[in-house]
Amino acid sequence: MTKNYMIGNWKMNQTQKEVTTFFNELNELGVPEGNFGIAPQLIHIPLAQSLTKKTSVKIGAQNCSSENFGAFTGETSTDSLKDLGVEFTLIGHSERRSYYNESDSIINKKVIKALSTNLLPVLCIGETLEERKADKTLDIVLGQIKAGLQSVKLENSDQIILAYEPVWAIGTGETATPDQAEEVHLAIRNLLKELYGSVGEKISLLYGGSVKPENVVELLAKPNINGGLVGGASLKAESFYALCKACL
Ligand code: PEP
Repeated sequence: MTKNYMIGNWKMNQTQKEVTTFFNELNELGVPEGNFGIAPQLIHIPLAQSLTKKTSVKIGAQNCSSENFGAFTGETSTDSLKDLGVEFTLIGHSERRSYYNESDSIINKKVIKALSTNLLPVLCIGETLEERKADKTLDIVLGQIKAGLQSVKLENSDQIILAYEPVWAIGTGETATPDQAEEVHLAIRNLLKELYGSVGEKISLLYGGSVKPENVVELLAKPNINGGLVGGASLKAESFYALCKACL
């Protein structure tokens, strides 16, 4: 069975006080058992871990280094993340690709590094509005996957998660329609089957881009959408809770 996930990407948001309030409220709502995750700012990871201890919400990172250790100021190694008990890391989010010039080859190195440390990579891919308008969506997205997974060997489908996030839908309030999203997810599924056979059939494919409680149910109803990667709507406990419930 393909696992359904709901993962919150908090980006550079939330103070310590807000992190504490979020998890206290979420714990009070009673998060059900499931595959849920939050990626707070790096500095808030230990606090988040301490607050979510008794729930099934896993704490992840938003980024990791492609290098082992050494003179890489400002970077965080996958070993150090793992050491801290971090369970997953986003890799190649479109904000990393566009603001920090992360190339497919760096992203590929990060995926390999995360896998080698047993840190679950969530590989993000997606096209810009210009690329969609030029009818290049599938070329771009499938190209990003082939490059990001270059030389990556997978033994089982739980080793990696993919998140399709059309750049034009991130933080804009504009969501891909369930049909638009499913069209891309189906193409991704077919590519993963080509690359990894039966393992590729079960890799979880998340959709991201202005997902909220109001639109999550119809997105998750699509056969190849196995959850969400959510920014804005994951910042409030009530809304994240609703997203998690929809994902069971
Ligand atoms: C994201 O940051 O990955 C994202 C999808 O953001 P939002 O849900 O706010 O569009």
